Amino acid sequence: MAGTAGPSIHDSSPTGRDAEDDRLGAAYAVGMSIQNAFTTPPTEPRLGIYNFSAGPSHMPLEVVDKVREELLDLGSSGIGLLEHSHRGPEYDQANEEAEAVVRRLAGVNDDHAVIFMPGGATVNFAFLALNYIQEGGTGVYLDTSVWAGKAIEEARPIGDVHVGFDGRSSEMFTCPDPAREGGDIDVPSDARYVFYCANNTGEGTWYEQPPITDRPLIGDLTSDIFSRPWPFERHAMTIAAGQKNLGAAGCSVVVARRDFLADASHRLGPILRFEDHEKADSILNTPPTFAVRVIGLMAEWTEAQGGPAVIAERNAEKAGLVWSTIDGSEGFYHSRAERRSRSNLNVTFQTASPETDARFIEEAAGHGMVNLKGLVGGMRASMYNAFPRRGAEILVEFMKDFAARNG
Ligand code: PMP
Repeated sequence: MAGTAGPSIHDSSPTGRDAEDDRLGAAYAVGMSIQNAFTTPPTEPRLGIYNFSAGPSHMPLEVVDKVREELLDLGSSGIGLLEHSHRGPEYDQANEEAEAVVRRLAGVNDDHAVIFMPGGATVNFAFLALNYIQEGGTGVYLDTSVWAGKAIEEARPIGDVHVGFDGRSSEMFTCPDPAREGGDIDVPSDARYVFYCANNTGEGTWYEQPPITDRPLIGDLTSDIFSRPWPFERHAMTIAAGQKNLGAAGCSVVVARRDFLADASHRLGPILRFEDHEKADSILNTPPTFAVRVIGLMAEWTEAQGGPAVIAERNAEKAGLVWSTIDGSEGFYHSRAERRSRSNLNVTFQTASPETDARFIEEAAGHGMVNLKGLVGGMRASMYNAFPRRGAEILVEFMKDFAARNG
């Protein structure tokens, strides 16, 4: 079964568990707080497994360990994180800290609000349409992926939808080309917003920059938030479900311009309105307290690592190792992601046949590299901010070995 093997396909590394436990043990021994340990880059996996999952996905051990500690006792209150009232000072503090660190990483001023919305990205896609197009106007969607498709699916029953870019064909996945006329997107004059998915988790493509439009821009940043510097201030709203670079599922981080929030439909109950959540400081009803705290800790870890600019370089290196192995494989591997739009977070590839792909996935799992099955066929290596570089190196080692044996 997958996962019992060590971290190297040639079995030369120490087990990840020992290495990480030693590192943390050493941190305690010299009296470092866990907070300080947040500054060390991700190294080894836990329990010898490299988890290439697209989400929920690998988290830094330092954060997991801090969560473990807080499950028993949040802030020396004698009460665990899951057991605290959302109306007490301890949760207030966790909520405020999470908001502050997300705001710093997003680099937005007070013109933008930071809200912790209930539910994942798809739930918030439905809220988006309810708030902005149910009473008229058109929602423009740039369809580059399964997830942009989900946003369209949620919006269609609610209001008018216009697909302003179609980037999914059976041959190739791509994003709009900003060098083309009109930025390659078609936006009707009654557009209430233009929605795009910044990183297409399933297809392995991303936007180098947000699309250019004079209409309110909505970005789904679920799989790339804080993985690279991104101009949040150019957006009317960004939505990012907290299941990858933000840790726990069940909550979405929404960063939105306050005037855009105020311009939403009032023919909705408060629970469906972003603005009402914002006015209640994200405590309109019982919030997903655990997820908000984990998001705060993940954001603190991201900041301690040096922030999105430092992390972007690491991600480029990890993904570059895998993309260049695909390119150097003399056609043994290929990707349907157009080169110009290749993502540094999800690397998608396949061999000449689904049978060989299935064997690749099974054999890799036998070497401790799990969750490599693609969403749209073939393989997908998801390597978010906390994913250790060593995992990419071992995957590449395995890819070369597999190609040599099967080519
Ligand atoms: N958008 C993107 C970019 C995603 O990667 C995902 C999930 N993988 C979603 C949306 C859907 O998120 P949820 O399951 O939280 O609705």
